[in-house]
Amino acid sequence: MNAQFDQIATRILEGGPDSGATEAEALAVLRADDAELLSVVAAASRLRRAHFGNTVKVNYLVNLKSGLCPENCNYCSQALGSQAPILKYSWLSKDETLKQAGAGLAGGATRVCMVSSGRGPSDRDIDKVTEMTEALKDEYPDVEVCACLGLLKDGQAERLKAAGVDAYNHNINTAESNHDNIVQTHTYDDRVDTIGKAKTAGLSPCSGLIAGLGESDEQLVEALFALKALDADSIPVNFLMPFDGTPFENTWELSPSRCLKILTMARFVCPDKEVRIAGGRELHLRSLQALALQVANSIFLGDYLTSEGQDAKADIEMIRDNGFVILGAEDAFETDEAHDPAIRHRGAGTEVPANA
Ligand code: SF4
Repeated sequence: MNAQFDQIATRILEGGPDSGATEAEALAVLRADDAELLSVVAAASRLRRAHFGNTVKVNYLVNLKSGLCPENCNYCSQALGSQAPILKYSWLSKDETLKQAGAGLAGGATRVCMVSSGRGPSDRDIDKVTEMTEALKDEYPDVEVCACLGLLKDGQAERLKAAGVDAYNHNINTAESNHDNIVQTHTYDDRVDTIGKAKTAGLSPCSGLIAGLGESDEQLVEALFALKALDADSIPVNFLMPFDGTPFENTWELSPSRCLKILTMARFVCPDKEVRIAGGRELHLRSLQALALQVANSIFLGDYLTSEGQDAKADIEMIRDNGFVILGAEDAFETDEAHDPAIRHRGAGTEVPANA
């Protein structure tokens, strides 16, 4: 057994909440031999358990507005120029949003992530989201609401906060040094600016990345250290789903062990932050999903924005089978009679199945 990673974990644990791996150590985690995979995961799991015990935070996505985006993020099925055969619609109604969110909450989620495609919200869009948030909080007082609406203008984050929104997601997606290779219609600084606006308004900043976008190992490390510097409370780690009809349609750079090492590296760099296994989990981690829960402490339940996830019931079983409990619902879902979180129709408000 390689003691190096265990020693790094011990040093981080003794160093208090602000400590973490160095860039060289992060790179070593990423480049660990597959024969060392269990050692490196075991070391990182000590950090995970020190900060989050055996809890898993469960999040549920509601896609308020799908497709029709004027931005050109090359990885995105909803982007300008994307030929991906996804469902396109403009804003869900408040009632439909409540129905969708309610299904996720009944299925075990404690955070609802309300997402809309587009460069950023208009003030009328903010009106819609504040109304939805207020209605959601009236019906489910304990729900955490995260909004993900794109680039924010001055004052918009404050309005979301006043309406009860808890967190704001805006991913940096990749290292600054790789940003212009994946999108040209906005800058890396635009993204960082929005995360700053959210934080200044008192919203919990959620920002993460997409692995598999042609980045080098060093750029993955760069992105993680940028997220650490931005003090993102939650860090969704996506694995590129190469949608047909997008510029990345033939880009397959990831293996299950590579994905596990990326998550493990994220835990070493940001030991006390919520590391969320996000889109591409099923496609790329495959049979290592359960092992990844030993280092990450958060997942999305069920489907993604424009693609189908694992059956949500299988997610709950995976959590339970591996000795974890759902944060905020520790006593629920202990038996096979637990609710079957049912929404398998991502075409919100329709019977259209999730876009594959
Ligand atoms: S701004 Fe968002 S919805 Fe639009 S192309 Fe980029 S990632 Fe996709």
